[in-house]
Amino acid sequence: LVVLSNVNKHFGALHVLQDIDLTIARGEVVVVIGPSGSGKSTLCRTINRLETIDSGAITIDGRPLPQEGKELARLRSDVGMVFQSFNLFAHKTVLENVVLGQVKVRKTDRKAAERKGRALLDRVGVGTQADKYPAQLSGGQQQRVAIARALAMDPKVMLFDEPTSALDPEMINEVLEVMQQLAREGMTMVVVTHEMGFARSAANRVVFMADGRIVEEAAPEQFFSSPRSDRAKDFLSKIL
Ligand code: ATP
Ligand code: MG
Repeated sequence: LVVLSNVNKHFGALHVLQDIDLTIARGEVVVVIGPSGSGKSTLCRTINRLETIDSGAITIDGRPLPQEGKELARLRSDVGMVFQSFNLFAHKTVLENVVLGQVKVRKTDRKAAERKGRALLDRVGVGTQADKYPAQLSGGQQQRVAIARALAMDPKVMLFDEPTSALDPEMINEVLEVMQQLAREGMTMVVVTHEMGFARSAANRVVFMADGRIVEEAAPEQFFSSPRSDRAKDFLSKIL
């Protein structure tokens, strides 16, 4: 579904993505882990073209990423993204947050968009919060709204960049459970996370990055029990 071939990206002198080859199949859940600064966020951001690349190619459904205009807006809704900071529209209600994109980008009529929005808010467990503003919700609730907002666009793939890192511990599980459910339902997902429990139980594959490279890729059981590279061994010894 998503194919990155020989992708390279620099920030000035910093070679932040180096010869990245990565294929994500439909329905696959790929967890990306690695030390701070290894390029995980940048990798995610290139997939919905929040960052450009210097060389190589990225395709979704066999088509190269569009560069601008309407096609780019469509790409951004095909590739749902959930960030560490929830990035909701602060001056819009929760319901409006999940309705806006449907009406503006997908051209769904408002009634249908609201129906779908309410159903999605129910599904992530915040249906009763629909008429509040984001600031009136807990972090965990806001993050679930952010997930519902992305899902409202019927994305082909969902990218999660440390979706639970900014949350108080007691709210982490409610967000991870929504993500687990999505994974079980067959959503294609790329998840940058430090939640190794989630990686073990939900991932089909773990991708370990260091210094802008994919150093190791393996099934979670294999990666956690017998990492091959010294970099991965060292990383795991620090976090587990
Ligand atoms: P973390 O675990 O801390 O989130 P990461 O693996 O997500 O790290 P990235 O955010 O992708 O890492 O950053 C990779 C490198 O690129 C870092 O050295 C970072 O400082 C640098 N970098 C990221 N964004 C920019 C930017 N817009 N301009 C310049 N340098 C950047
Ligand atoms: Mg990051």
